[in-house]
Formats: sequence, structure tokens, C-alpha cells
Amino acid sequence: SNRIMLGPLVAAIDQGTSSTRFLVFNARTAELLSHHQVEIKQSFPKEGWVEEDPKEILQSVYECMDRTCEKLTQLNIDISNIKAIGVTNQRETTLVWDKETGEPLYNAIVWLDLRTQSTVERLINKTPGRNKNHLKHKTGLPISTYFSAVKLRWLMDNVTEVHEAVLSHRAMFGTVDSWLIWCLTGGKKGGVHCTDVTNASRTMLFNIHTMDWDPDLCKYFDIPMEILPKVRSSSEIYGLMKSGSLTGVPISGCLGDQSAALVGQMCFQDGQAKNTYGTGCFLLRNTGSKPVMSDHGLLTTVAYKLGRDKPPCYALEGSVAIAGAVVRWLKDNLGIIQTSSELEKLAAGVGTSYGCYFVPAFSGLYAPYWEPSARGIICGLTQFTNRSHLAFAALEAVCFQTREILDAMNQDSGIPLNQLQVDGGMTSNRLLMQLQADILCIPVVKPSMPETTALGAAMAAGAAEGVSVWSLNPEDLTEVTSEKFEPQINPEESEFRYARWKKAVQRAMNWET
Ligand code: ADP
Repeated sequence: SNRIMLGPLVAAIDQGTSSTRFLVFNARTAELLSHHQVEIKQSFPKEGWVEEDPKEILQSVYECMDRTCEKLTQLNIDISNIKAIGVTNQRETTLVWDKETGEPLYNAIVWLDLRTQSTVERLINKTPGRNKNHLKHKTGLPISTYFSAVKLRWLMDNVTEVHEAVLSHRAMFGTVDSWLIWCLTGGKKGGVHCTDVTNASRTMLFNIHTMDWDPDLCKYFDIPMEILPKVRSSSEIYGLMKSGSLTGVPISGCLGDQSAALVGQMCFQDGQAKNTYGTGCFLLRNTGSKPVMSDHGLLTTVAYKLGRDKPPCYALEGSVAIAGAVVRWLKDNLGIIQTSSELEKLAAGVGTSYGCYFVPAFSGLYAPYWEPSARGIICGLTQFTNRSHLAFAALEAVCFQTREILDAMNQDSGIPLNQLQVDGGMTSNRLLMQLQADILCIPVVKPSMPETTALGAAMAAGAAEGVSVWSLNPEDLTEVTSEKFEPQINPEESEFRYARWKKAVQRAMNWET
């Protein structure tokens, strides 16, 4: 046969909030050869609740793998050249399953979920001085509905099956990475129960200084340590695929999606940063070997640890809960667009929000406010306002939220970013990219290969000891081609709109209290 010779290939599972993807890269050139994507259903069983089905998530991974392998075969590419698989995932989303039956004991509670708001308020009220940063010195995180510990606590308190499985030592806790790796490496027949340091650092049970589960934090949330996965580095062989088209291939990379994007954008130097626009929006700035504590509402998180014997690298993070999710809301809840990509045309038609401001605080506000009781508002409406203005205001909201976290980041580090590297599903919206440059007053730079999250996971997997088909040496890394959006409006205009946005945010705050 006339099979194409490409050398080693590396694959990535990218399990995001809105979809699952499987992608295969050439390890020499970082070229994306083939991929497949499947959307994931989200259920909203009660106001503020967001769940996904763990089995659907797992099935979507197998489906994407199989379809991608079929596509490669059609391209005459031999899938036996796939030397490793990396996993990257929506972070914080919390699962508990039974290790004997292999069955999930409840739906996955998605990171955006607000059901733990009252628990969080109670925990904060118990701290000295009602301080939401009471655990920050160990975790880098404020006490919030966002992180896994409170979600796990809710499952143990409210789901009989979970409670009983914990008592009878059958329960396993994990974020999506752990669930997938356990299932893919054999599940109830010897699956590997592990997570990596980046995912662990989002649970609130992990000490980012000792780089291990913290017994005091586990006691604080009353969580038995035996249900926790083993913490590993982001780049090492965890286990081998036990079934499907890629049986026998090592799984050797694991990074939370935002860490993976940082790696995929090659932000390996202290001070380098990227912003990813997916369901939410996440700006991470590499701070090197030191965990830097923020004075401006940012998180301190583990960026990556690329090998068992490698030192950890940390990042400051600005997290925005709702970015692409506001587009999905305009589509699914209001029906003013049929597809996400229609939004751009609708908004571009007017080119202004006509004084309308939309604060999509659907899940409270994350950075820099950390206010779970905030709720969404749309203000500045007149008789003239129409759905195009609303579409424009939704895109602007994403840009203003990024401006807020960028300002916080600049204040914390003292060195302002002079351009912003971006990626994620929403960056295909060119109007959004231009608006972002206008509102930040700095250029926005987008790589031409948009799948940087998956690329980062593939890089980690390919570089692992025992695989070693991908070099992470800065000199060997492939140059990325990119597109640059320059600011086009004057800074006064930009500041005026931003000041209005800030007023709108104040009106969204403390809505429920
Ligand atoms: P995640 O990793 O969180 O699943 P993705 O990076 O896949 O997210 O991006 C998907 C999100 O981007 C969805 O919320 C979708 O509404 C939004 N999106 C996709 N295309 C566009 C577009 N052209 N304009 C605006 N938003 C978009």
C-alpha cells in the first residue's frame, strides 16, 4: 500500500465543557493531521445547577477516537504511529464512582454549578473575619462554589449512593481527567486512579507548596483521603489504553485545559501569558518556579510539571465564568441566533451596543470579584435597542471581563502585558478579536492553529519519559504562525465604555443578598 511516512504521531483527548475532541498531531512538525469533535449535553435540573453525564463523556471520547482513526486510515496514515495520548479536560468538574461496579454514582457536577452557594457562605462566615481567602495560603484559591471540594462535600451529604460507597470503601473521587484515565486504563479491571498536579490544584484539597494532598484541608472539608486519586506530574506514563482502536498506547500527558493551553502556546517563560475563550475565559500568566499570591482577586495555580523529576511551574490566573456560555444562552434560551457563528454577523450589522451593557453573571462573578450572589443584568435599554445591539453587548461583555482580569494581572505583576496571546473556540469570531484589541488598547495575537489546548496535552504526552518523541527544548519547538489584531479606536472612547461597564457590574453585585 502507499502509506504516508510521517514519523511518530501523538494524540490528545480534549474533554471540554461544551464538547469532546480527539486530535492527532505530527510530533516533528506539530501539524494537526486529523480530529473529530462531539458536543456534550448539559443539564440544568434546577436553577443554578449544571450537570453532565459521565458515561456520555466517556462514550464521546471513544467515538471521537474511533472516528479520528478512521479518518487517518482514509488518509493512508498508519495509526500504529500514534505513540502516546495526552488528556486535557474541563477543570474542577467533580465525579464520584464505584470502583467495584465501575458505575458513576451521580452526574458530573460541572464547575459552573452554584448549588453549593449556601455551603460556601456558611464556610466563609465561620472563618476569622469572614475571610474568603482563609485557605489561600495553602491552595492559592478563595473559598468558592467553583472548586471541587465543596462539590464533593455536597455529593457526600446529599446522594445516598455516594455516602454509602464512601462508608464501604468503594468510592473513588476524581475530576474528568481521573475518570477518563481510570476508565481508559481498564476501569474496574485494574484502572489507574490518578490525576496530575494542575487538576489537583483546583480541588482546594491540594497544597500548592508541598505539591500533595493536604491532610488539614481534607479534614476541613471532612473528606476521607482514601477516595482521592494519586497525584502525578503532567508528563509521565500513567498507564496503557486497554480497549478500542488504540489499545496498548500509553497515556502519558495530563493537564487541566487552561494549563494545556499555556503549554500549547509555548508560554514557558516567566511573564508569558495567554487568554483562552471557551465556555468561560481564562487568562494565565506564567510566574516561573514561584507561586505568586495575588492582591487583586486572581488565583495562584500550578501551571504544569513536565516530568516526575522536573520542578513545578506556577501561574497567576484570572477566571471568568461566562464567555462562550453567553453565546450559547442567546442561542438556546433566547433563540435570537441559530448557531454560535451567526452572532458575529448579527453584531457586526450594528457595530455598537447603542449604550446597552450586558453583565452575564449567571454563575455569580469570578475574578476579580468572587461574588457568588451576583446575577446577570442587561441595562441601558431604550426603545431603539434590538437583538443586534444585545448580540454586540454580549461580545463586549467578554472583552470587558478580560480587561478586568488583565488590569488585575498587570497590577499584581507590575509589568504590563504589551500584547495578548489568545485561543479557544470563540476566537474564530473576528469581531470579538477586534473588539478585544480595542477594549484592551493592546494588540491581540491569535495562532493560526487554534487547537492549542490539545496541542499542549499532546506535547506533554510526547515528551514523557519512555515516549520521548516530542522535544520541549525551546530551540526545537516549531515556530507558530499567527494573526494580529491592532487596537483601532482611541483610548478615551475605550475608557468611557469600560467605565460604563464597571457601573453595570456594580448593579449586578449582591443581587441575591
Ligand atoms: P470549551 O473548551 O469550554 O468546551 P470551546 O473552546 O470549544 O469551549 O469553545 C466553545 C464556546 O465558544 C461555546 O460556548 C460557543 O458558544 C462559543 N463559540 C464558538 N464559536 C463562536 C463564534 N463564532 N462566536 C462566538 N462564540 C462562539
